[in-house]
Amino acid sequence: MNRITKPKPAAARKKNPVNSVNLVFQTRPLVPALLHWFAQNARNLPWRRTRDPYAIWVSEIMLQQTQVKTVIPYWERWLRELPDIAALAAAPPEKIHKLWEGLGYYTRVRNMQKAAQQIVADHAGQFPRDFDAILALPGVGRYTAGAICSIAFNQPTPILDGNVIRVLTRVFGIASDPREKQTNAHLWQLAEELVVIAARRPCASRLTPRASHFNQSMMELGALICTPRNPQCEICPVKKLCVAHRENRIAELP
Ligand code: SF4
Repeated sequence: MNRITKPKPAAARKKNPVNSVNLVFQTRPLVPALLHWFAQNARNLPWRRTRDPYAIWVSEIMLQQTQVKTVIPYWERWLRELPDIAALAAAPPEKIHKLWEGLGYYTRVRNMQKAAQQIVADHAGQFPRDFDAILALPGVGRYTAGAICSIAFNQPTPILDGNVIRVLTRVFGIASDPREKQTNAHLWQLAEELVVIAARRPCASRLTPRASHFNQSMMELGALICTPRNPQCEICPVKKLCVAHRENRIAELP
């Protein structure tokens, strides 16, 4: 399915909280700067060594409410005990509960087993590649579906979580509330435009999954450099493009 948003009519664009001058001058250099930075600085996390959508899905669900360092041993044990969709679909609930114990928010793990059973029933046990089919799984929202499609299948699907919101609002100088409906919609649109540019970009290595790496680079920048407090602007790869840095507005954005 083609999920590229059609361009909005001119009347709709007028209300866009993203300054169109910023957009034109920032989007294109932003993409290579982040891709380059990610290639040099990405953390060596275990779920980054696989393209298995099941393993990536498990990591995304675990990471929703839990820190990376806590998730690593849980994820490794889960993949040893329940290595694929079929194993999760057929596992006794007590075993799943035991593997999840300590992570909290148990609705997540119950939804994961329902989703695995749905994949067995509707997709012959193969993790679906289609965005809408992934979004239809229990416990999967727009962010998680976009993360799986881009990271596992290198599709240009946008992601927008707290880290990405922080990076985008600061870089583009978006002052309106990201929880407000219109601003949130424009942030999704901006995230989509950027990942599409990344996917289309020529690259020295054809093996580089650019949509995947671009989405992960924004999350990584938000996690490591563009942190909520005391962001490390001096070593930030996009500081020359960043409105918040240039105008000294970091404390107020987002
Ligand atoms: S320059 Fe600073 S505020 Fe701007 S994106 Fe980089 S770390 Fe964030």
